[in-house]
Amino acid sequence: MLKKLFKSLRSPLRRAKQSHSTPEVLSNRQHPIHRGDISRYAISVVERLQNAGYQAYLVGGCVRDLLLDLDPKDFDVATSATPEQVRAEFRNARVIGRRFKLVHVHFGREIIEVATFRANHPQDEEDDDPRASRHESGRILRDNVYGSLEDDAQRRDFTINALYYDPGSERILDYAHGVHDIRNHLIRLIGDPTQRYQEDPVRMLRAVRFAAKLDFDIEKHSAAPIYKLAPMLGEIPAARLFDEVLKLFLAGYAVYTYELLVDYGLFGQLFPASAAALKHNPDYTDTLIHNALANTDLRIQQGKPVTPAFLFAALLWPALPARVLKLQERGMPPIPAMQEAAHELISEQCQRIAVPKRFTLPIREIWDMQERLPRRSGKRADLLLENPRFRAGYDFLLLRESAGEQTGGLGDWWTAYQDASDSERRSMIRDLSGKEDGPGAPRKRKRSGGRRKRGAGEGTAKPGND
Ligand code: ATP
Ligand code: MG
Repeated sequence: MLKKLFKSLRSPLRRAKQSHSTPEVLSNRQHPIHRGDISRYAISVVERLQNAGYQAYLVGGCVRDLLLDLDPKDFDVATSATPEQVRAEFRNARVIGRRFKLVHVHFGREIIEVATFRANHPQDEEDDDPRASRHESGRILRDNVYGSLEDDAQRRDFTINALYYDPGSERILDYAHGVHDIRNHLIRLIGDPTQRYQEDPVRMLRAVRFAAKLDFDIEKHSAAPIYKLAPMLGEIPAARLFDEVLKLFLAGYAVYTYELLVDYGLFGQLFPASAAALKHNPDYTDTLIHNALANTDLRIQQGKPVTPAFLFAALLWPALPARVLKLQERGMPPIPAMQEAAHELISEQCQRIAVPKRFTLPIREIWDMQERLPRRSGKRADLLLENPRFRAGYDFLLLRESAGEQTGGLGDWWTAYQDASDSERRSMIRDLSGKEDGPGAPRKRKRSGGRRKRGAGEGTAKPGND
């Protein structure tokens, strides 16, 4: 309904005459946002700052999403007050961030993020100035140059993210023709696209993220430089990329996001080994990743929890076999080769994207489970069922099968086993007789007879290995 109202608005934009310091102003009758749509905490933060004599607005994703009749993920506030001045106004406020100082105002579990108006950085800083806020590539290193509201609008990434809403007057200030681009479903960088990507290459990922989330097109001048500039992502700290990757894949639009990342040559910058697997074994790799992400999207839609570990396990899995093979060709036995390949792959990936240990350990456990699921005789099946990682390991097995891996019906067997009664389970184990080391794990192991205790490194994750 809101959307319709907004779309039916026919006021032509006076684009030509405007300089960037004169915003398009939309009165409350010209847009569908109502105060009631907005977090009362966000409104109280804005009003408190305004009453203290500062300028303050709601800005960014919340205004954009409300115009599109979507539920904003969070509410961001922009103000003329410095972080210290903001903190002084609220008891429940904390200054965070180094590269970009912000204030978080806490209301129970809700956090309102307050950012001080900032200006673009001068292009002509001396390279040898130790205070320089730019890298020689144009990348902005520090971003704490404060500015006016007009400056703040110009330094934001996309036109659709540079809309300011004043809950008092219920007016929207549009400095960059963001309303026009929202109507036309376009992601457009403010200013010169190449320069804006060079300043912060993460904007390339953000362009793709918003295109997928909103189902918008990336405007052609904003899209054109991405392919060439994608390698600049290599300069971004691995910890920041981890945060961005979670935003890319855990927002409920992972499949489409992944397709766009591949199309724009960004996927290989984030997951080089997976991109190589995509080249060498395209159908299998693409299907496995696609299915894993579709499953993630579905779980998010259903309100079910998702773990980054499963996601990373799936994204990297197709890159494993080639490495295992390489190590085996150098004479390493299959199981240690698998362990070593897993270790190498995860360490390499962490150079690019800093996946915290609390996720890398479960990745290893999910992978190790793949070797253990085929071995079911005696008490092994029941022991596996009790393993806290069983469910993830089993889901992962089904994922591999969905991508065409031949496991000799292992997934169905485990599905049936979980539903079976005790006596049925005993008979299922008896029926295995000799089949139990069947295909499934990416290895073939020769047994030298007897039921030896498995040696170190066989089939179990070694904590601290990564
Ligand atoms: P969402 O929160 O729905 O993911 P958002 O647009 O609110 O989307 P945030 O990451 O919360 O995104 O950032 C808030 C606002 O800050 C953005 O709308 C944009 O105006 C500005 N912004 C964020 N990151 C950048 C960046 N790298 N370069 C320029 N502006 C940015
Ligand atoms: Mg936001």
